[in-house]
Amino acid sequence: MTAVRSLKTPEDLAAAGLIEPQKLDGIRAVADRYAIALTPTVVSLIDRADRQDPIARQFVPDPAELLTTPQERADPIGDQAHSPVKGIVHRYPDRVLLKAVHICPVYCRFCFRREMVGPQGDGTLSPEELSAAFGYIRERPEIWEVILTGGDPLVLSPRRLAAMMRGLAEIPHVKIVRFHTRVPVVEPDRIDAAMIAALKESGKVVYIALHANHPREMTGTARTACARLVDAGFPMLSQTVLLRGVNDDPAVLGDLMRAFVETRIKPYYLHHPDLAPGTGHFRLDIAEGQKIVSALRGTISGLCQPTYVLDIPGGHGKAVIGESAVRGEGGCYSVSDFRGGEHAYPPK
Ligand code: SF4
Repeated sequence: MTAVRSLKTPEDLAAAGLIEPQKLDGIRAVADRYAIALTPTVVSLIDRADRQDPIARQFVPDPAELLTTPQERADPIGDQAHSPVKGIVHRYPDRVLLKAVHICPVYCRFCFRREMVGPQGDGTLSPEELSAAFGYIRERPEIWEVILTGGDPLVLSPRRLAAMMRGLAEIPHVKIVRFHTRVPVVEPDRIDAAMIAALKESGKVVYIALHANHPREMTGTARTACARLVDAGFPMLSQTVLLRGVNDDPAVLGDLMRAFVETRIKPYYLHHPDLAPGTGHFRLDIAEGQKIVSALRGTISGLCQPTYVLDIPGGHGKAVIGESAVRGEGGCYSVSDFRGGEHAYPPK
């Protein structure tokens, strides 16, 4: 069955044959807590005959999401600890996150901001809040890059996006505007002439970081949407989350990285899954991740190698963990933040 609109409720999923009727109550309990959305494009990618389908696993809710472990946290990467005004996260000196919107076209079951996104989430910044966020950026000449994330900033209409870009155009020390998005893959039709014109509105250098986790997401239509962005002059990078049952296999990950490079997207980050609530079934041990990443070396081109990183809980920033993380006392890892601080991290 081809969906003509996004599926947003357990009943939608049951009607589309994506969950079995006897699982409906369990999924309703998940839906009470975390948002659900699958676009028609995502629905069309799901292989219903495969009970382990890696696309379904990313987007179809699972009762396992109601199981939380003691080390999981509502804000696993510590956004709130570095949020001086609503919508801004200022973790590193030369850049800020601008979270203008907390809506996404799809809701990933492993989302690290799952407590903030969705219709019941932190919402969209009001004009006053957006103006305060711009004021914060304007007053700090050290801010060289603004990263629009959320939520997915490309759900905004081209009109609103253009207005935001015009606001950034007025801040001379901001040289780079980066977007984090899943839209070119999950809703490729949004990448049209109006969207591209809006992205150009600031006159700044604009980078687009695409989030995709499995090679089957890189369809012909997704590649065409990305080509539109690259042809318009926006360099593209990738972000992938290493996920049990989705891409925890060097062959799958290698195919994904090659698909990125074929689409003129430079593989950037491979994220170790964060300690978000109810996501234990997606997590693997850092040692398993390191083994997968080492298997990529030598088997696929250097162009295709992502950097394997961990966001240190508590807002301490990213640590590269490809080869440097070591298992310390009590089965924990010890990772270093960019200021030289050492932090313990649990095995799973
Ligand atoms: S698109 Fe990003 S912010 Fe939205 S649900 Fe997925 S991981 Fe979370």
